[in-house]
Amino acid sequence: MRLPLSFEFFPPKTVEGATKLRAVRQQLYTRKPEFCSVTYGAGGSTHDGTFNTVREILGEGVDAASHFSCIGSTKETVRMQLAELKAMGVKRLVALRGDLPSGYGAGGEFLYASDLVSFIREETGRDFHIEVACYPEVHPQSRSPEADLRAYAAKVEAGADSAITQYFFSAEAYFRFVDEARKLKLDVPVVPGVMPITNSTQLMRFSDACGAEIPRWIRLRLQGFGDDTASIKAFGLDVVTDLCVRLRDGGAPALHFYTMNQAAATLGVLERIE
Ligand code: FAD
Repeated sequence: MRLPLSFEFFPPKTVEGATKLRAVRQQLYTRKPEFCSVTYGAGGSTHDGTFNTVREILGEGVDAASHFSCIGSTKETVRMQLAELKAMGVKRLVALRGDLPSGYGAGGEFLYASDLVSFIREETGRDFHIEVACYPEVHPQSRSPEADLRAYAAKVEAGADSAITQYFFSAEAYFRFVDEARKLKLDVPVVPGVMPITNSTQLMRFSDACGAEIPRWIRLRLQGFGDDTASIKAFGLDVVTDLCVRLRDGGAPALHFYTMNQAAATLGVLERIE
């Protein structure tokens, strides 16, 4: 069975990066994604890069979602950006709180992503399909798993249509989260976010920052490979393929890949599971 797919990119910082990303997208489009999404730097730091990349994807005939983080923003700037996205033909948003880099005061008129979801619905009705983030292994700033589930419920109740998870390597964490959400009658699709493994230093850094757990056996194996990137990639392909098979067989509604602007690792997994 083939699951619906989506691919996430970050906005390239250079002309070369943008050229490379165009080629990466063409390779990934061969898997017929439902949509591709583009991350958005908190505080609007990537506004132009995000919107330009979204525009390019739409121009390539593929549905594009713009990520949209609200921390530090005023209602007026969000209103203007929503109008800009609507004029571009964007129909899908990933609505987030975001994280301001340390040293920035939060300010702004939005505290949580649920405030942003409510505001988007108030301002634009059903113009956008709204995705939100969720955390099977619990958001790192959350007081408890129960509080984090309530925060997720607030986003669904504010009008989110579906959710994409932070990445994880424990399928159990995902299935438990889905069960708990269902018990609360939160029945929007929860799409697992999948992180291919290609670079262990980067993976460990990201995981420490976002609270994604790398199981001890994976961490030790990755450390044992040292600089042997071929072995890291081969091992990563096995681990992520097994995870995707378990997710698919356990009923995940779709798969969302954090591509890191690279095609090979994602395609490697898809070739094995489709
Ligand atoms: P929220 O849902 O607002 O939650 C943030 C924290 O506040 C959580 O600990 C939650 O439990 C708590 N909380 C929520 N509501 C309440 C309340 N009412 N009272 C008390 N506590 C509450 N970041 C970017 O900057 N740009 C991106 O493009 C981006 N894309 C992402 C895509 C996905 C799929 C995911 C999973 C994450 C992404 N992130 C992105 C990271 C995200 O911005 C961070 O994880 C951020 O810390 C939380 O964002 P959120 O939207 O989940 O926040």
